[in-house]
Amino acid sequence: MPTTALAVEELTCCPLCGHAAADPVLEEADGYLPSLRLHRCRGCAMVYLNPRLTLDAMVAVEDESEVYSFGPDVAEQWITGGLIGLVAQLEGHLRTPGRRLLDIGCNRGLLMEAARRRGWQARGVEISPESANRARRDYGLTVYATLDALAEAEPGARFDLITAWHVLEHTFDPVSFLRAAAARLTPQGVLALQVPSFDFLDEFRRRNEPGSLLCAVHNFYFTEANLQPVLARAGLAPLQIESDPNSLLLTAICTRPAQPRPWWRRIQARFAPHS
Ligand SMILES: [Zn+2]
Repeated sequence: MPTTALAVEELTCCPLCGHAAADPVLEEADGYLPSLRLHRCRGCAMVYLNPRLTLDAMVAVEDESEVYSFGPDVAEQWITGGLIGLVAQLEGHLRTPGRRLLDIGCNRGLLMEAARRRGWQARGVEISPESANRARRDYGLTVYATLDALAEAEPGARFDLITAWHVLEHTFDPVSFLRAAAARLTPQGVLALQVPSFDFLDEFRRRNEPGSLLCAVHNFYFTEANLQPVLARAGLAPLQIESDPNSLLLTAICTRPAQPRPWWRRIQARFAPHS
């Protein structure tokens, strides 16, 4: 918990579509924000946090997070016990034999290391300097602070698989984030993302784990329905979108079609920004 007050910003409209009107969804006490207040936009139905932490404040919170402060034995269990299997599962969605991975929000590099053990060449992006340094130090991984830094260092780099695991809900503009990520895909590349599912708010509460969904570093709250227009506006088409009632997670596997199909263009147009 920070000893000094964190910088907070108040939004005057939906950060996704610019619509001014929104309905309150819930409000509760929080350790970082004056209160955790969620709103549903009347324009695009996105659920967003307002007020929210500034980007610098969020980096400060992430940097002191103890969620990943476990030792090498537990890290190894994560890699061998789950993440290698996850990589194998994602390989099932690939449409080319290429093995170049970009993991955005790579944290300590565990997913990258799992991929490397399955023959992948991996790059990472991580906003927290503390976590990025751990990834470099523990596994010798190449990790950049931002997508821009990656583009500057490796301008031609394209990836067969881009992962963003529990990242989109932390962003300040999910559409711009996904569009920038998708620009790094090979023509046949696949972007896979996972977020906690707001479809399961009641179940998170019932399991006494509401903090996995509701917290000061989650700016956006995704459902199957409100994720689809975000993907469409970023130029992505889903191969699969799934809310899993066991894990309470929402996973999307997407491609970047050269020519969006007419029905997908209609969704894109319907949810275009108001301004
Ligand atoms: Zn909106």
